[in-house]
Amino acid sequence: MNKNSEAQPPPGSPTNPIPLSRHKKLLQRFYGGERLRSPLGGHLDVLGIREGEGGRGQVLLECNTSSLRFVLTVPRATRTELAKVKEALEAGDEPVCPRHGPFQRLSRSGRQLICPLCGVPFGKAP
Ligand SMILES: [Zn+2]
Repeated sequence: MNKNSEAQPPPGSPTNPIPLSRHKKLLQRFYGGERLRSPLGGHLDVLGIREGEGGRGQVLLECNTSSLRFVLTVPRATRTELAKVKEALEAGDEPVCPRHGPFQRLSRSGRQLICPLCGVPFGKAP
């Protein structure tokens, strides 16, 4: 049996990003628009946002010193957040991301309203 036949790409490569721990403080910094510090020193630059499974968001990041790739999983919307967005829609207001603050509008993706910065769906488009 060849052990290398199903070898994974090395951790931190583009197809195998290293998951960042979902530390509350890390998420708070991310929601606050701060540049995140890399576990290897330097900073993490955002490469892209993906819609994860089960209503979660995925932020792809690259360390600017090591060029290693990381991924931050953003927790899905809470009931309170969903209610907030629904309320805004019903009041005829522009729905915004409950985490990224009053200036971050949600964008439509299919039938969902998604924050373009965290990739989290916060409700159904009207
Ligand atoms: Zn957001």
